[in-house]
Amino acid sequence: MFDVLIKNANLPDGREGIDIAIKGDKIVDVGPRIEAEAGEVIEASGRLVTPPFVDPHFHMDATLSLGLPRMNVSGTLLEGIALWAELRPTLTREALVERALRYCDLAVAQGLLAIRSHVDTSDPALVTAEALIEVREKVAPYIDLQLVAFPQDGYYRAKDGVESLNRALDMGLDIVGGIPHFERTMADGAASVSALCKIAADRGLPVDMHCDETDDPMSRHIETLAAETVRYGLQGRVAGSHLTSMHSMDNYYVSKLIPLMAEAEINVIPNPLINIMLQGRHDTYPKRRGMTRVRELMEAGLNVSFGHDCVMDPWYSMGSGDLLEVGHMAIHVAQMAGIEDKRKIFDALTVNSAKTMGLQGYGLEKGCNADLVILQARDTLEALRLKANRLVVMRRGKVIARSAPRFSELKLEGRPTAVDAADYAPLRPGEL
Ligand SMILES: [Zn+2]
Repeated sequence: MFDVLIKNANLPDGREGIDIAIKGDKIVDVGPRIEAEAGEVIEASGRLVTPPFVDPHFHMDATLSLGLPRMNVSGTLLEGIALWAELRPTLTREALVERALRYCDLAVAQGLLAIRSHVDTSDPALVTAEALIEVREKVAPYIDLQLVAFPQDGYYRAKDGVESLNRALDMGLDIVGGIPHFERTMADGAASVSALCKIAADRGLPVDMHCDETDDPMSRHIETLAAETVRYGLQGRVAGSHLTSMHSMDNYYVSKLIPLMAEAEINVIPNPLINIMLQGRHDTYPKRRGMTRVRELMEAGLNVSFGHDCVMDPWYSMGSGDLLEVGHMAIHVAQMAGIEDKRKIFDALTVNSAKTMGLQGYGLEKGCNADLVILQARDTLEALRLKANRLVVMRRGKVIARSAPRFSELKLEGRPTAVDAADYAPLRPGEL
Protein backbone atom coordinates (compact mmCIF):
# COMPACT_ATOMS: atom_id res chain seq x y z
CA MET A 1 0.00 0.00 0.00
CA PHE A 2 1.49 3.32 -1.15
CA ASP A 3 0.43 6.82 -0.12
CA VAL A 4 0.58 8.24 -3.65
CA LEU A 5 0.92 6.56 -7.04
CA ILE A 6 1.67 8.72 -10.09
CA LYS A 7 0.63 6.89 -13.25
CA ASN A 8 1.92 7.08 -16.82
CA ALA A 9 4.65 9.70 -16.51
CA ASN A 10 7.27 10.71 -19.05
CA LEU A 11 10.65 11.34 -17.40
CA PRO A 12 13.37 13.87 -18.32
CA ASP A 13 15.70 11.02 -19.42
CA GLY A 14 13.20 10.05 -22.16
CA ARG A 15 11.55 7.04 -20.46
CA GLU A 16 7.79 6.95 -21.04
CA GLY A 17 4.84 5.22 -19.40
CA ILE A 18 6.49 5.20 -15.96
CA ASP A 19 4.72 4.97 -12.60
CA ILE A 20 6.15 6.55 -9.44
CA ALA A 21 5.20 5.15 -6.04
CA ILE A 22 5.50 7.28 -2.90
CA LYS A 23 5.35 6.34 0.75
CA GLY A 24 5.63 9.07 3.37
CA ASP A 25 8.13 11.63 2.08
CA LYS A 26 10.13 9.27 -0.18
CA ILE A 27 9.92 7.76 -3.64
CA VAL A 28 9.84 4.00 -3.04
CA ASP A 29 9.47 2.61 -6.55
CA VAL A 30 9.83 3.82 -10.14
CA GLY A 31 8.98 1.67 -13.14
CA PRO A 32 6.43 0.70 -15.79
CA ARG A 33 2.96 -0.37 -14.56
CA ILE A 34 3.34 -0.58 -10.79
CA GLU A 35 0.25 -2.51 -9.64
CA ALA A 36 -0.58 -1.69 -6.03
CA GLU A 37 -3.12 0.08 -3.87
CA ALA A 38 -2.48 3.73 -3.13
CA GLY A 39 -4.19 6.36 -0.95
CA GLU A 40 -4.17 8.74 -3.93
CA VAL A 41 -3.64 8.06 -7.63
CA ILE A 42 -2.49 10.98 -9.80
CA GLU A 43 -2.79 10.48 -13.57
CA ALA A 44 0.16 12.09 -15.37
CA SER A 45 -1.34 10.98 -18.71
CA GLY A 46 1.90 10.96 -20.69
CA ARG A 47 3.07 14.32 -19.39
CA LEU A 48 6.54 15.17 -18.15
CA VAL A 49 7.30 14.56 -14.48
CA THR A 50 10.52 16.18 -13.33
CA PRO A 51 12.32 16.79 -10.07
CA PRO A 52 11.69 20.39 -8.93
CA PHE A 53 13.40 23.38 -10.49
CA VAL A 54 16.42 24.67 -8.59
CA ASP A 55 17.65 28.28 -8.81
CA PRO A 56 21.34 28.49 -7.83
CA HIS A 57 21.60 32.29 -8.05
CA PHE A 58 19.06 34.79 -6.73
CA HIS A 59 18.77 38.01 -4.68
CA MET A 60 15.88 37.52 -2.29
CA ASP A 61 16.69 40.65 -0.27
CA ALA A 62 16.03 42.80 -3.35
CA THR A 63 13.21 40.93 -5.06
CA LEU A 64 9.82 42.62 -5.57
CA SER A 65 11.28 46.02 -4.58
CA LEU A 66 10.83 47.42 -8.09
CA GLY A 67 10.16 51.18 -8.00
CA LEU A 68 11.59 51.68 -4.48
CA PRO A 69 12.64 54.39 -4.03
CA ARG A 70 12.57 55.07 -7.80
CA MET A 71 12.98 53.24 -11.11
CA ASN A 72 16.34 52.47 -12.75
CA VAL A 73 16.35 55.10 -15.52
CA SER A 74 19.28 53.82 -17.58
CA GLY A 75 18.50 50.17 -16.85
CA THR A 76 22.21 49.49 -16.31
CA LEU A 77 24.00 47.30 -13.76
CA LEU A 78 25.83 50.26 -12.23
CA GLU A 79 22.68 52.38 -11.81
CA GLY A 80 21.07 49.28 -10.29
CA ILE A 81 23.86 49.04 -7.72
CA ALA A 82 23.54 52.80 -6.97
CA LEU A 83 19.76 52.47 -6.67
CA TRP A 84 20.09 49.53 -4.29
CA ALA A 85 22.45 51.67 -2.15
CA GLU A 86 19.67 54.32 -1.96
CA LEU A 87 17.07 51.75 -0.98
CA ARG A 88 19.22 49.83 1.52
CA PRO A 89 19.15 52.30 4.46
CA THR A 90 15.34 52.30 4.37
CA LEU A 91 14.95 48.51 4.49
CA THR A 92 13.13 47.02 7.46
CA ARG A 93 13.19 43.42 8.57
CA GLU A 94 9.40 43.16 8.28
CA ALA A 95 9.28 44.42 4.70
CA LEU A 96 12.19 42.20 3.65
CA VAL A 97 10.56 39.13 5.17
CA GLU A 98 7.21 39.91 3.60
CA ARG A 99 8.61 40.43 0.10
CA ALA A 100 10.75 37.28 0.33
CA LEU A 101 7.81 35.17 1.53
CA ARG A 102 5.68 36.50 -1.34
CA TYR A 103 8.41 35.54 -3.78
CA CYS A 104 8.59 32.05 -2.27
CA ASP A 105 4.82 31.65 -2.83
CA LEU A 106 5.38 32.45 -6.49
CA ALA A 107 8.35 30.08 -6.63
CA VAL A 108 6.31 27.19 -5.24
CA ALA A 109 3.60 27.80 -7.84
CA GLN A 110 6.35 27.56 -10.48
CA GLY A 111 7.70 24.27 -9.09
CA LEU A 112 10.86 26.02 -7.87
CA LEU A 113 11.69 24.36 -4.56
CA ALA A 114 15.36 25.18 -3.93
CA ILE A 115 16.98 28.61 -4.14
CA ARG A 116 20.44 29.94 -3.37
CA SER A 117 20.12 33.62 -2.53
CA HIS A 118 22.89 36.16 -2.15
CA VAL A 119 22.33 38.44 0.84
CA ASP A 120 23.95 41.86 0.83
CA THR A 121 26.21 42.25 3.86
CA SER A 122 27.51 45.76 3.03
CA ASP A 123 25.40 47.59 5.62
CA PRO A 124 26.84 46.71 9.05
CA ALA A 125 23.33 46.74 10.53
CA LEU A 126 22.83 43.42 8.66
CA VAL A 127 19.04 43.75 8.61
CA THR A 128 19.15 41.80 5.34
CA ALA A 129 20.88 38.81 6.95
CA GLU A 130 18.52 38.83 9.97
CA ALA A 131 15.47 38.91 7.71
CA LEU A 132 16.64 36.22 5.31
CA ILE A 133 17.62 33.89 8.16
CA GLU A 134 14.04 34.24 9.43
CA VAL A 135 12.75 33.49 5.92
CA ARG A 136 15.03 30.45 5.57
CA GLU A 137 13.45 29.01 8.70
CA LYS A 138 9.88 29.87 7.70
CA VAL A 139 10.08 28.35 4.22
CA ALA A 140 12.12 25.27 5.20
CA PRO A 141 9.07 22.95 4.97
CA TYR A 142 8.69 23.78 1.27
CA ILE A 143 11.84 25.48 -0.07
CA ASP A 144 15.51 24.71 0.52
CA LEU A 145 16.95 28.21 0.86
CA GLN A 146 20.72 28.71 1.00
CA LEU A 147 22.13 32.12 1.90
CA VAL A 148 25.37 33.60 0.58
CA ALA A 149 27.14 36.38 2.50
CA PHE A 150 27.53 38.80 -0.38
CA PRO A 151 29.60 42.00 -0.06
CA GLN A 152 27.71 43.94 -2.76
CA ASP A 153 29.78 47.14 -2.30
CA GLY A 154 33.07 45.22 -2.22
CA TYR A 155 34.76 43.16 0.49
CA TYR A 156 37.61 45.68 0.69
CA ARG A 157 35.94 48.62 -1.03
CA ALA A 158 33.03 49.02 1.41
CA LYS A 159 33.94 50.72 4.67
CA ASP A 160 33.01 47.82 6.95
CA GLY A 161 33.00 45.12 4.27
CA VAL A 162 35.42 42.68 5.90
CA GLU A 163 33.92 42.84 9.37
CA SER A 164 30.29 42.74 8.16
CA LEU A 165 30.78 39.69 5.97
CA ASN A 166 32.42 37.75 8.77
CA ARG A 167 29.69 38.77 11.22
CA ALA A 168 27.01 37.63 8.75
CA LEU A 169 28.72 34.22 8.58
CA ASP A 170 28.79 34.12 12.39
CA MET A 171 25.03 34.79 12.34
CA GLY A 172 24.54 31.64 10.23
CA LEU A 173 24.70 32.46 6.54
CA ASP A 174 25.72 29.34 4.64
CA ILE A 175 28.16 30.39 1.93
CA VAL A 176 31.04 32.83 1.38
CA GLY A 177 30.35 35.35 -1.42
CA GLY A 178 32.46 37.96 -3.18
CA ILE A 179 32.54 40.52 -5.98
CA PRO A 180 36.20 40.86 -7.03
CA HIS A 181 35.54 42.87 -10.22
CA PHE A 182 33.88 45.60 -8.09
CA GLU A 183 36.89 46.11 -5.79
CA ARG A 184 38.96 49.25 -6.45
CA THR A 185 41.73 47.53 -8.43
CA MET A 186 42.46 44.20 -10.10
CA ALA A 187 44.98 43.59 -7.31
CA ASP A 188 42.37 44.23 -4.60
CA GLY A 189 39.98 41.94 -6.47
CA ALA A 190 42.54 39.12 -6.56
CA ALA A 191 43.36 39.68 -2.88
CA SER A 192 39.65 39.49 -2.00
CA VAL A 193 39.31 36.16 -3.82
CA SER A 194 42.22 34.74 -1.87
CA ALA A 195 41.01 36.07 1.49
CA LEU A 196 37.46 34.81 0.94
CA CYS A 197 38.64 31.33 -0.11
CA LYS A 198 40.72 31.16 3.06
CA ILE A 199 37.65 32.08 5.14
CA ALA A 200 35.71 29.27 3.41
CA ALA A 201 38.53 26.78 4.05
CA ASP A 202 38.82 27.81 7.72
CA ARG A 203 35.07 27.67 8.32
CA GLY A 204 34.39 24.60 6.14
CA LEU A 205 31.93 26.49 3.92
CA PRO A 206 31.29 26.62 0.17
CA VAL A 207 32.13 29.69 -1.95
CA ASP A 208 29.91 31.42 -4.51
CA MET A 209 31.22 34.65 -6.00
CA HIS A 210 29.85 37.17 -8.43
CA CYS A 211 32.91 36.86 -10.63
CA ASP A 212 33.89 38.96 -13.65
CA GLU A 213 30.37 40.30 -14.25
CA THR A 214 31.73 42.70 -16.86
CA ASP A 215 32.52 42.94 -20.59
CA ASP A 216 36.20 43.57 -19.81
CA PRO A 217 38.24 40.77 -21.45
CA MET A 218 41.02 41.50 -18.95
CA SER A 219 38.81 40.88 -15.91
CA ARG A 220 40.28 37.53 -14.99
CA HIS A 221 39.32 36.86 -11.39
CA ILE A 222 37.97 33.46 -12.40
CA GLU A 223 41.58 32.40 -12.97
CA THR A 224 42.47 33.45 -9.42
CA LEU A 225 39.31 31.81 -8.07
CA ALA A 226 40.18 28.50 -9.75
CA ALA A 227 43.80 28.64 -8.57
CA GLU A 228 42.85 29.50 -4.96
CA THR A 229 40.21 26.74 -5.01
CA VAL A 230 42.95 24.21 -5.78
CA ARG A 231 45.36 25.80 -3.28
CA TYR A 232 42.86 25.55 -0.41
CA GLY A 233 41.53 22.11 -1.46
CA LEU A 234 38.01 23.45 -2.10
CA GLN A 235 37.42 21.50 -5.34
CA GLY A 236 33.71 21.04 -6.10
CA ARG A 237 32.66 23.49 -3.35
CA VAL A 238 33.21 26.70 -5.30
CA ALA A 239 30.86 28.44 -7.74
CA GLY A 240 31.69 31.21 -10.20
CA SER A 241 28.54 33.23 -10.89
CA HIS A 242 28.12 35.21 -14.12
CA LEU A 243 31.68 34.96 -15.61
CA THR A 244 30.48 37.26 -18.40
CA SER A 245 34.00 38.54 -19.16
CA MET A 246 34.74 35.07 -20.58
CA HIS A 247 32.45 36.04 -23.47
CA SER A 248 34.95 38.73 -24.48
CA MET A 249 38.24 37.02 -23.61
CA ASP A 250 40.91 36.05 -26.08
CA ASN A 251 40.34 32.49 -27.34
CA TYR A 252 43.91 31.35 -26.71
CA TYR A 253 43.70 32.49 -23.10
CA VAL A 254 40.37 30.70 -22.63
CA SER A 255 41.92 27.49 -23.96
CA LYS A 256 44.18 27.57 -20.90
CA LEU A 257 41.54 28.86 -18.48
CA ILE A 258 38.82 26.25 -19.00
CA PRO A 259 41.06 23.27 -18.10
CA LEU A 260 42.15 25.16 -14.97
CA MET A 261 38.47 25.64 -14.03
CA ALA A 262 37.84 21.93 -14.68
CA GLU A 263 40.77 21.00 -12.41
CA ALA A 264 39.21 23.14 -9.67
CA GLU A 265 35.74 21.62 -10.36
CA ILE A 266 34.22 25.10 -10.45
CA ASN A 267 30.43 25.17 -10.61
CA VAL A 268 29.54 27.67 -13.33
CA ILE A 269 26.40 29.78 -12.90
CA PRO A 270 25.44 31.97 -15.88
CA ASN A 271 22.33 34.13 -15.48
CA PRO A 272 21.01 34.36 -19.05
CA LEU A 273 18.15 36.85 -18.51
CA ILE A 274 20.28 39.32 -16.60
CA ASN A 275 23.44 38.83 -18.68
CA ILE A 276 21.69 39.54 -21.98
CA MET A 277 19.98 42.56 -20.41
CA LEU A 278 22.93 44.18 -18.60
CA GLN A 279 26.08 43.30 -20.56
CA GLY A 280 27.27 44.84 -23.82
CA ARG A 281 26.02 48.26 -22.72
CA HIS A 282 29.18 50.11 -23.81
CA ASP A 283 29.01 48.54 -27.28
CA THR A 284 27.48 50.24 -30.28
CA TYR A 285 27.15 47.59 -33.00
CA PRO A 286 27.90 44.76 -33.16
CA LYS A 287 26.69 44.32 -29.56
CA ARG A 288 28.05 41.46 -27.44
CA ARG A 289 25.69 38.98 -25.85
CA GLY A 290 27.54 39.00 -22.56
CA MET A 291 26.84 35.42 -21.55
CA THR A 292 29.71 33.12 -20.65
CA ARG A 293 30.79 30.23 -22.90
CA VAL A 294 28.11 27.73 -21.93
CA ARG A 295 28.65 25.13 -24.63
CA GLU A 296 32.45 25.06 -24.27
CA LEU A 297 32.25 24.84 -20.46
CA MET A 298 29.74 21.99 -20.64
CA GLU A 299 31.88 20.16 -23.20
CA ALA A 300 34.88 20.47 -20.87
CA GLY A 301 32.87 18.60 -18.22
CA LEU A 302 32.15 21.57 -15.94
CA ASN A 303 28.90 21.61 -14.01
CA VAL A 304 26.84 24.46 -15.48
CA SER A 305 23.57 25.58 -13.90
CA PHE A 306 21.46 28.64 -14.71
CA GLY A 307 20.25 31.24 -12.23
CA HIS A 308 17.29 33.61 -12.39
CA ASP A 309 19.28 36.29 -10.47
CA CYS A 310 16.61 39.00 -10.29
CA VAL A 311 12.84 39.40 -10.34
CA MET A 312 11.38 42.91 -10.25
CA ASP A 313 14.23 44.63 -8.44
CA PRO A 314 16.65 47.55 -9.07
CA TRP A 315 18.45 45.58 -11.79
CA TYR A 316 15.62 43.88 -13.66
CA SER A 317 11.99 44.93 -13.94
CA MET A 318 10.86 41.59 -15.37
CA GLY A 319 10.98 37.94 -14.29
CA SER A 320 8.36 35.52 -13.02
CA GLY A 321 10.13 32.91 -10.91
CA ASP A 322 9.99 30.60 -13.92
CA LEU A 323 13.22 28.68 -14.50
CA LEU A 324 11.87 27.56 -17.89
CA GLU A 325 11.93 31.21 -18.95
CA VAL A 326 15.60 31.25 -17.90
CA GLY A 327 16.27 28.10 -19.94
CA HIS A 328 14.34 29.47 -22.91
CA MET A 329 16.61 32.53 -22.95
CA ALA A 330 19.71 30.36 -22.48
CA ILE A 331 18.87 28.31 -25.57
CA HIS A 332 18.70 31.48 -27.65
CA VAL A 333 21.69 33.33 -26.24
CA ALA A 334 23.96 30.26 -26.23
CA GLN A 335 22.55 29.15 -29.60
CA MET A 336 21.99 25.65 -28.23
CA ALA A 337 19.18 24.48 -30.46
CA GLY A 338 19.98 20.78 -30.97
CA ILE A 339 17.89 18.06 -29.31
CA GLU A 340 20.75 17.04 -27.02
CA ASP A 341 21.48 20.73 -26.33
CA LYS A 342 17.95 21.28 -25.07
CA ARG A 343 18.18 18.28 -22.77
CA LYS A 344 21.42 19.72 -21.38
CA ILE A 345 19.71 23.08 -20.82
CA PHE A 346 16.89 21.36 -18.92
CA ASP A 347 19.48 19.58 -16.74
CA ALA A 348 21.05 22.98 -16.05
CA LEU A 349 17.74 24.06 -14.43
CA THR A 350 17.35 20.89 -12.38
CA VAL A 351 20.00 18.21 -11.71
CA ASN A 352 23.04 20.43 -12.36
CA SER A 353 21.80 23.18 -10.07
CA ALA A 354 20.96 20.58 -7.41
CA LYS A 355 24.59 19.50 -7.66
CA THR A 356 25.79 23.12 -7.39
CA MET A 357 23.73 23.52 -4.21
CA GLY A 358 24.77 20.10 -2.87
CA LEU A 359 21.14 19.03 -2.35
CA GLN A 360 20.71 15.59 -0.80
CA GLY A 361 18.00 13.13 -1.91
CA TYR A 362 17.26 15.08 -5.11
CA GLY A 363 15.96 13.20 -8.14
CA LEU A 364 13.34 10.74 -9.31
CA GLU A 365 15.09 7.52 -8.34
CA LYS A 366 13.97 5.09 -5.68
CA GLY A 367 14.97 6.46 -2.26
CA CYS A 368 14.90 10.13 -3.30
CA ASN A 369 12.71 12.72 -1.60
CA ALA A 370 9.18 12.72 -3.03
CA ASP A 371 9.61 16.19 -4.53
CA LEU A 372 8.41 16.56 -8.12
CA VAL A 373 6.54 18.62 -10.68
CA ILE A 374 4.05 17.49 -13.34
CA LEU A 375 4.21 19.78 -16.36
CA GLN A 376 1.67 20.36 -19.12
CA ALA A 377 4.16 19.14 -21.73
CA ARG A 378 5.21 15.72 -22.95
CA ASP A 379 9.02 16.10 -22.76
CA THR A 380 11.83 18.45 -21.76
CA LEU A 381 12.02 20.04 -25.19
CA GLU A 382 8.31 20.86 -25.11
CA ALA A 383 8.55 22.10 -21.53
CA LEU A 384 11.22 24.61 -22.60
CA ARG A 385 9.43 25.63 -25.78
CA LEU A 386 6.16 26.29 -23.97
CA LYS A 387 7.47 27.42 -20.58
CA ALA A 388 4.93 24.82 -19.60
CA ASN A 389 2.17 25.13 -17.04
CA ARG A 390 2.88 23.41 -13.69
CA LEU A 391 -0.09 21.10 -13.10
CA VAL A 392 1.09 19.58 -9.81
CA VAL A 393 3.92 20.54 -7.46
CA MET A 394 4.76 18.01 -4.75
CA ARG A 395 7.09 18.35 -1.77
CA ARG A 396 7.91 15.38 0.47
CA GLY A 397 4.91 13.43 -0.83
CA LYS A 398 2.33 16.23 -0.40
CA VAL A 399 0.80 18.30 -3.19
CA ILE A 400 1.61 21.93 -2.33
CA ALA A 401 0.49 23.62 -5.57
CA ARG A 402 -1.89 22.70 -8.34
CA SER A 403 -3.02 24.44 -11.56
CA ALA A 404 -5.84 23.61 -13.94
CA PRO A 405 -4.64 22.52 -17.39
CA ARG A 406 -4.45 25.53 -19.70
CA PHE A 407 -6.46 25.47 -22.92
CA SER A 408 -8.47 27.89 -25.02
CA GLU A 409 -12.01 27.42 -26.28
CA LEU A 410 -12.37 28.03 -29.99
CA LYS A 411 -15.47 29.27 -31.73
CA LEU A 412 -14.66 28.68 -35.40
CA GLU A 413 -16.91 26.88 -37.77
CA GLY A 414 -15.54 23.54 -38.89
CA ARG A 415 -12.48 23.77 -36.59
CA PRO A 416 -11.75 22.09 -33.23
CA THR A 417 -13.60 23.46 -30.20
CA ALA A 418 -10.51 23.67 -27.98
CA VAL A 419 -6.77 24.27 -28.32
CA ASP A 420 -4.15 22.84 -25.96
CA ALA A 421 -0.86 24.53 -26.88
CA ALA A 422 0.98 21.53 -25.43
CA ASP A 423 -0.56 19.36 -28.14
CA TYR A 424 1.14 20.95 -31.14
CA ALA A 425 4.54 19.28 -31.33
CA PRO A 426 4.95 17.46 -34.65
CA LEU A 427 3.60 13.94 -34.40
CA ARG A 428 6.14 11.18 -34.09
CA PRO A 429 6.41 8.35 -36.63
CA GLY A 430 3.53 5.97 -36.05
CA GLU A 431 1.29 8.68 -34.56
CA LEU A 432 0.18 10.14 -37.91
ZN1 LIG B 1 23.59 38.19 -8.69
